[in-house]
Amino acid sequence: MKKLVVITGASSGIGAAIAKRFNAAGYPLLLVARRIEKLEALNLSNCLCEQVDVTDREAFSIVIAKAEAQYGPVECLINNAGVMLLGQVDTQDSDEWQKMFDVNVLALLGGMQAVLSPMKKRNSGTIINVSSIAGRKTFSNHAAYCGTKFAVSAISENVREEVADFGVRVSTICPGAVETELLSHTTSDDIKDGYEDWKQTMGGALVADDIARAALFIQEQPQQVCIRELLVAATRQQ
Ligand code: NDP
Repeated sequence: MKKLVVITGASSGIGAAIAKRFNAAGYPLLLVARRIEKLEALNLSNCLCEQVDVTDREAFSIVIAKAEAQYGPVECLINNAGVMLLGQVDTQDSDEWQKMFDVNVLALLGGMQAVLSPMKKRNSGTIINVSSIAGRKTFSNHAAYCGTKFAVSAISENVREEVADFGVRVSTICPGAVETELLSHTTSDDIKDGYEDWKQTMGGALVADDIARAALFIQEQPQQVCIRELLVAATRQQ
C-alpha cells in the first residue's frame, strides 16, 4: 500500500504536476500552499489540501500531524515551494532577497526538520528537494535566486550524508527552464521580456509534468537506491 507524500507549493506549476502524477500512482497526499482554492481545484481523491505558508514552521508541522493522523507516517516530503524574483544586486529591493531565502532555503530546512526524526527511527523515507539548474551554474539577474538554489543543492547533499546510515534518502531535482508562473513575480518587465526571449531561443521550455515524472522516478526506486541528483532541462537549453 502506498504511503503519505507531502508536496509543498502544489497550487501551481511543478508542484501541481507532481501532485497529479503521485495521485495517479496511488499515493495519499498532503498538498500545501497559500492558495487553498487552487489546491482544491486539482480535485484529487485521497488527498488533504491545507492552506499553509511554508515559512510558518509551526503551521506546517500542525498540518503534517493532521495528515499523519489520517494517512499514517510521512513516507516522502517534496520540498517544491519556491519563489524566483530576478534582479540586479545594485537595484533589487532587499526584501526580495529575504523572501527568496525564507521560502527557498529556510522553509525547506524546516520541512526536513519536521519529518526527518520519525523517518530515521523507521529507517525509511525520502526527501526530494527541488533546486534548479540555477543551483549548479549562474545566470544574469539571478544572483540572489542562484544563491538560494546553490544553498538548496549543498544543504540537500549534506543532509543526505547525515541520514544515509538510517536508510533515509535525500534527492535533489535541478530543473532547467519550465513553463510555470515562476517568472511572473519578478517586477522588472525588461528582465521578464529578456527571459521570455531566451526561452524562445531554445525552442521553448519544459512543461511541469517533465519534472513530475522525474520526481516519481526518484520515489519509486527501491528504498536502498538513492538518486542523489537529477538535472532535467530542455534538450536545447545551454
Ligand atoms: P510556480 O510559481 O508555478 O509555483 C510555486 C509554488 O510555490 C506555488 O504553488 C506557490 O503557492 C508556492 N509557494 C510560494 N511561496 C510559498 C509560501 N510562502 N508558502 C507556501 N507555498 C508557497 O513555480 P514553479 O512550479 O516553477 O516552481 C516550483 C519550484 O521549482 C520552485 O522551487 C522553483 O524555484 C523551482 N524551479 C522552477 C523552474 C522553472 O523554470 N519554472 C526551474 C528550476 C527550478 P502559493 O502561491 O499558492 O502559496
